[in-house]
Amino acid sequence: MNQALSHSSWLADIPRQLAALDAQQLRRTRRTVVPQQGAHILVDDQPLLQFCSNDYLGLAAHPDLVEAARAGAQDFGVGSGGSPMVSGHSTANAALEADLARFVQLPRALYFYAGFATNASVIPALVAAGDAVFSDALNHASLIDGCRLSRADIQRYPHGDLAALDALLAASPARRKLVVSDAVFSMDGNVADIPGLLALCERHDALLMLDDAHGLGVLGPQGRGSLAAAGLTGTQASPRVLYMATLSKAAGVSGAFVAGSEVLVEWLLQKTRSYTFATAAPALLARALQASLRLMEHEPVLRARLQARIQQLRAGLEPLLARTGWRLLPSDTAIQALVVGSNGAALALMEGLRQRGLWVPAIRPPTVPQGTARLRIALSAAHTEADVQRLLAALTDTALSSIV
Ligand SMILES: *Cc1c(COP(=O)(O)O)cnc(C)c1O
Repeated sequence: MNQALSHSSWLADIPRQLAALDAQQLRRTRRTVVPQQGAHILVDDQPLLQFCSNDYLGLAAHPDLVEAARAGAQDFGVGSGGSPMVSGHSTANAALEADLARFVQLPRALYFYAGFATNASVIPALVAAGDAVFSDALNHASLIDGCRLSRADIQRYPHGDLAALDALLAASPARRKLVVSDAVFSMDGNVADIPGLLALCERHDALLMLDDAHGLGVLGPQGRGSLAAAGLTGTQASPRVLYMATLSKAAGVSGAFVAGSEVLVEWLLQKTRSYTFATAAPALLARALQASLRLMEHEPVLRARLQARIQQLRAGLEPLLARTGWRLLPSDTAIQALVVGSNGAALALMEGLRQRGLWVPAIRPPTVPQGTARLRIALSAAHTEADVQRLLAALTDTALSSIV
C-alpha cells in the first residue's frame, strides 16, 4: 500500500490546494483548550482570559448541570442506542421536549442532537423543488445549506431589508413560501425585526422560520428567547412561525430544538431526515438541559450579570471609539462587534490582546463584508467586572501603542 499517486490524479490536487491555502494565509488550525475558572482558559497550555465562547450564561460548567449529567449517566448510561424513531427516545428526552415547549411558550417542541443538522434538514422537510425559500443575506451557514438541500428556489434578500423581501414574496409564483432568518445575527449581534417579518408572512401566506441560537437564554422574559421578547408566544403564538434554537450556546450543553404548532412539529417528526436517521442525543444531556432551563427560569441574576457586563463594555469603549475611529455595532446581546476596518488592523489588535493574555477573535471577510473586519467580543455571565475592565485596558493600551 505505498504506491504513489499519479501526478494527474485528482487526489494529487489536494496537497496543492492545501499549499494554496497556506500561500493565502487561509489555512485554519485548531488550538487545544482546557477550561479553567470563570472565563479563563488554557489555550495550547497558555492561560488566557477568553471573550469568544457562546456559553453566554456561564452554564457549561455549572455544578447543577454537571450533577444532572452525572445522575443521567447513572440512570441511562452514556449512549442512547438508536434513533428516536426506534429505541433512542428516552423518558429524559421526552421530558426535556415538554420542558422546552413550556419554556419558549409554544405548543410543542422536538429535540435534535445538533443545531447544524436541524437547520440543514428541517428546511428540506418543509419545502422542495417548485417551492420558494427567502433567506436573509447574513443567515447562518446551516440555514444556507438547508435551503440548498431543499432544492426550492432560493431568493436571498439584503440583510434586514423588509421592503426587498416584500417585493420578492409578491413576485414569487410559488404556492409554498418559506422565509428563513437568524433571530439574532451571529456576527453583528443585532436582532431581526420579527413582527415585521411575521406581518409579511401573513400578507403573502408564507411560513417564518427563526433561528434563535444566540437569543435563547439571553433575550425575553426569563431568557425565553427572541420570539417571547417580541410578544409572539403563549396566547400570541402564530401557527406561521417555526422557532428553532440551539442548546449549545446560552443553554451550555449541546443539541437543538424546533418548536411551533402541534401539526407543524408532528410533520417535522415524520419528515426530518436528521431526526429519523440519526442516533438520539444521550439522556444525560437531556438531564443537563433540564437543569439549564431551571436555572434560566429561576436565576435572573445570570442575565442581570450578562447585561451589566454588556453595559460596562459599551460605556467603557466610548472614549476609545472617538480616538480610534473604531465602530461598536448596536447590540444588546452578548455579541459585541468592534469594527476596526482593515484585515491587518483587526489581526494586529487580536495579536496585541493575545500578548496581554486575552483571547478575542478577529473576524474577516468573507465571513463579514469587505472593509468591516472586526473583533467579535462575546460576553458572558462568567465574566467578572474585573475581566471586562482588563479587556478595556488592554484595548486602550494596544490602540495607543499602535498609534505611536
Ligand atoms: C451555532 C449555530 C448553529 C449550529 O448549532 P450547533 O448546535 O452548534 O450545531 C445554527 N445556527 C446559528 C445561528 C448558530 O450560531
